[in-house]
Amino acid sequence: MLHPTRRLLRHSLTSGRQPRVSVSQPTPYSWVASDGLLEAEVKAYRASTCQSLVQRHIAIKENITYRHAPTTCSSAILKDFNSDYNATCVELLLHQGAAICGQTKMDEFGMGSNTTHLPEGYTPVYNPGGPVDDDAPRSVGGSSGGSAAAVAEGSCWAALGTDTGGSVRLPASYCGVVGLKPSYRLISRFGVVSYADSLDCVGILARDISIASQIFSTLNHPDPRDMTNVSSVTRQRAHALLVQHIEEIQRHGGPKGALQGYRIGIPNQTRLPSPHLTIPSELVSYLESQRATVVSVDIPSWTKTLPAYYVLASAEASSNLARYGGGFFGSAQPDGEEGRRRVRTEGFGREVKKRLLAGTYALSANQFDNTYLKALYLRRTLRREFDSIFRIPHPVRSYPSVYESAPNSDTTSSPPRPSSTSTATSAPDGVDVLLHPTAISTAPPLSKTLSSESEYAQDLLTVPASLGGLPCMSVPAGVGSDGWPIGMSVSSQWGMEQLVFDVGRVIE
Ligand code: GLN
Repeated sequence: MLHPTRRLLRHSLTSGRQPRVSVSQPTPYSWVASDGLLEAEVKAYRASTCQSLVQRHIAIKENITYRHAPTTCSSAILKDFNSDYNATCVELLLHQGAAICGQTKMDEFGMGSNTTHLPEGYTPVYNPGGPVDDDAPRSVGGSSGGSAAAVAEGSCWAALGTDTGGSVRLPASYCGVVGLKPSYRLISRFGVVSYADSLDCVGILARDISIASQIFSTLNHPDPRDMTNVSSVTRQRAHALLVQHIEEIQRHGGPKGALQGYRIGIPNQTRLPSPHLTIPSELVSYLESQRATVVSVDIPSWTKTLPAYYVLASAEASSNLARYGGGFFGSAQPDGEEGRRRVRTEGFGREVKKRLLAGTYALSANQFDNTYLKALYLRRTLRREFDSIFRIPHPVRSYPSVYESAPNSDTTSSPPRPSSTSTATSAPDGVDVLLHPTAISTAPPLSKTLSSESEYAQDLLTVPASLGGLPCMSVPAGVGSDGWPIGMSVSSQWGMEQLVFDVGRVIE
């Protein structure tokens, strides 16, 4: 008899519409390493009575380790890499009785916005979330495009992705599903392959917010094996601030309504000219009818975040990916320097090589001050701007900064000197959440995603929350004039996922 997981997928892939392959090749089902093993694992965990995810089929992105399948990161260089342990996020799901039903395709090492940077032998992933037009297939978004497509086509109950600069939210928006990037450092990254450690987050893709929040609660635990993961004490501090804030909102909330007392900010910098997406005026009116106050806010650094993101992410990637040379990960055996060069030349795809070159350049002695250091400074400025517009203070942030003053554009100047520590402050007349479109457009046809510039521009509205380390969720909010889904992003202060869920539920 077929394992229920296989039945589910076979059904979803052969029903009605043309199959939209979102799981790894060579065959759509090849990720089920062994039905027996999977079944045994699920049975063992089912023994407990308090599990919340029994019978739930959850797919995981190919950069999250799972003992029963290779963790390839959709890269030829890792095609034979099998992890002998599960990522913490996978363990937590299994402990709740979930079944890992598949691995999903991604842009190689998470670098991309359309799930098109795939190794040889992988078929492209087409967007199942809109009107079928097989002559002009649309982008599924990236890099967690496989996870979003798997959820949108009903192949799984939910999926895990990773989000460094928008990789969960952009695909969610394009495919018409919910995509949550939790606050940086809340969900353990132990067992998740690094792209850019100062930004990487495990994210969740689901059909609706209640599923996303259920999985978030399952994964939201301290993990001593991830040194960036925050402790219980910090979590308690954030929770206490949240409770106090919600009490405050309710006390001054005025007449009853779903969002009574909530203040929602729309960043001016996200109001882009046509034909780019904007917040529909009906949505603003609806939020106001639910007793929310909607105001405009200014985040001046927003417009500079895209280049800063690409500098930081590429620099960190160039360091992280130095470990792949065929010696330890994967099966290829390098033969000295020449062998390492060959393994890397053949193993990495074009986009990854481009990022590695850009990152190495940014970190080189000549360029460091003028690129990497400036990007760090921009990130810090942006974080201050976020802190100054949220009503709720950052639960942990202080500024013991080495990058307090602006770096000089003169490349020969020395780095800024340390200055005194200051703590984050909040704005009493500020906002609780920010709201803006997740993407600048609906899912573009794949034929229009070929240039790097158009690909990078797709991240314009997602990278600020990544640089800020903030929780941000893309919520389906109807369809555009072309009939394809539109996603709205709700973000909040660090650790305030509850506010994001509260406002998201009203939009959903
Ligand atoms: N598109 C962005 C990049 O290529 C974001 C990717 C991500 O979040 N993993 O870096």
